[in-house]
Amino acid sequence: MTGGPLREREPAGFDTFHSLDAKEPSLTTPTTAKKVPITVAHGDGIGPEIMDATLRIILAAGAQLDIEEIAIGESVYNRGLQSGIEPASWESLRRTKVFLKAPITTPQGGGFKSLNVTVRKTLGMYANVRPCASLHPFVATKHPNMDIVIVRENEEDVYGGIEHRQTNQVAQCLKLISRPGSKRIVRYAFEYARANKRKKVTCFTKDNIMKITDGLFHRTFEEIAKEYPEIESEHWIVDIGAAKMADTPEAFDVIVMPNLYGDVLSDVAAQITGSVGLAGSANIGDHCSMFEAIHGSAPRRAGQNLANPSGLLHGAILMLVHIGQSKTAEAVHNAWLKTIEDGIHTYDIYTEGVSKQKVGTREFADAVIARLGKRPSQLKPVEYAEDAVMNLAIRPAGKPPMKVRVGVDIFIDRRDGNPDHIAELMQKFNVPGTKLTVIANRGTKVWPNGNPDTYWSDHWSCRFEGDGDGLFTQEHVVKLLEVAAKAGFDVVKTEGLFTFNGERGYSLAQGQ
Ligand code: NAD
Repeated sequence: MTGGPLREREPAGFDTFHSLDAKEPSLTTPTTAKKVPITVAHGDGIGPEIMDATLRIILAAGAQLDIEEIAIGESVYNRGLQSGIEPASWESLRRTKVFLKAPITTPQGGGFKSLNVTVRKTLGMYANVRPCASLHPFVATKHPNMDIVIVRENEEDVYGGIEHRQTNQVAQCLKLISRPGSKRIVRYAFEYARANKRKKVTCFTKDNIMKITDGLFHRTFEEIAKEYPEIESEHWIVDIGAAKMADTPEAFDVIVMPNLYGDVLSDVAAQITGSVGLAGSANIGDHCSMFEAIHGSAPRRAGQNLANPSGLLHGAILMLVHIGQSKTAEAVHNAWLKTIEDGIHTYDIYTEGVSKQKVGTREFADAVIARLGKRPSQLKPVEYAEDAVMNLAIRPAGKPPMKVRVGVDIFIDRRDGNPDHIAELMQKFNVPGTKLTVIANRGTKVWPNGNPDTYWSDHWSCRFEGDGDGLFTQEHVVKLLEVAAKAGFDVVKTEGLFTFNGERGYSLAQGQ
């Protein structure tokens, strides 16, 4: 077995990615010469109202769009389709490759899959980009100088949704982090920073605990950061990083994170700018991209002409940049800033003494349209380069490492188990070329030399490794399972133990 701290060496294995020229037009970035086909879904709850307002604004600003409409969400779920989207809608998405989506209501419980996760993963939208900027003094916030962009990995981590209940007491969710996935999102974050003249990229992980998964993400970050010497880079452990972001967001610029941390913290970031109703997001893939508000369908506000359309409008602004209509995006964004600055506010950001007029969704849209061509005078106007892109065209490359099987973890379900007794039985397995090296319970070593204070659940991980003579093969695994079954063990799963170019690809048990 090869051990040792992973950090000290080059990451062994995994696939690698390289970047194409960031300015190279993406496969999906059409010219502004003709109308660009996009797919639009009006969604549920407040969705239809904010979509109507958003489309009115961007079309009034001159967006050249050829709109295909599809139905998603409640109406589709209610027809028994658990994915919330009809097969024909996929054809539209594959054809247009651009999706402007209003929020939908996800039915509670019972087998329904999140449509967002399904669409993002099915269409390979690996990057989720959420700009969050405060609008001080026009929208109340504790953070007047906040202007950050969260770049969240969008396909991996625990969002594979691969979960199993393995014993009466223990359930698991697989956290999958890949080298190509990490390289792609980290490079995206640096390319985004470079393209948008941002000065710093920060990475949040929890690799003091998850040394292999988050460690891979962090290491990839350190490696790629070297290719962008003009951009400052730093890493924070996610817990203290999150606390710092909530307290002093002006200390950050672009923050790149694995999926789960990004999901949680991008909502925090949006909320502390003043309202979750303000932020939009882009989900970027090599071929298809989706643009939306970050909030949900707010059913309690539906049908009352109350909702703030700003979040979806921001999604649409990012979409206009993506499809090569960045000057239209700029006009919309500046008109929106001017509207906010003029104190014309929906209920969620209306503050007595600061706001001038409380308006509904429709009237807010009318006010933005009336200000097209104007720029804010106190808030900083935005500028989008003519050739700005959202798809930063990053493609895979590289050669695979040398992978060697060195053992297996056999997980068993055993109530009232005792590690010494389990070890005694397993040491009698007598499969030549293998030896039992450690038993762990929920990741903590309990044999050999376990601590009597450790709590034992019914979920035991028993590690067999080679005995030093020859290779550890799949046949060894099969043989061990056969003997385990004969000995009456209830095997609930196995995990292969591998090294990659000699580097250990599995964790040691706590205390091992
Ligand atoms: P939500 O974001 O829909 O609403 C929470 C609260 O935030 C609302 O009650 C409202 O007070 C406020 N709010 C949200 N958007 C607003 C806006 N544009 N203008 C003014 N106020 C706004 O969260 P929820 O109530 O937890 O979820 C409702 C439904 O939305 C659920 O079915 C959930 O699954 C779904 N959802 C969908 C998406 C999506 O489609 N992208 C995202 C999140 C939640």
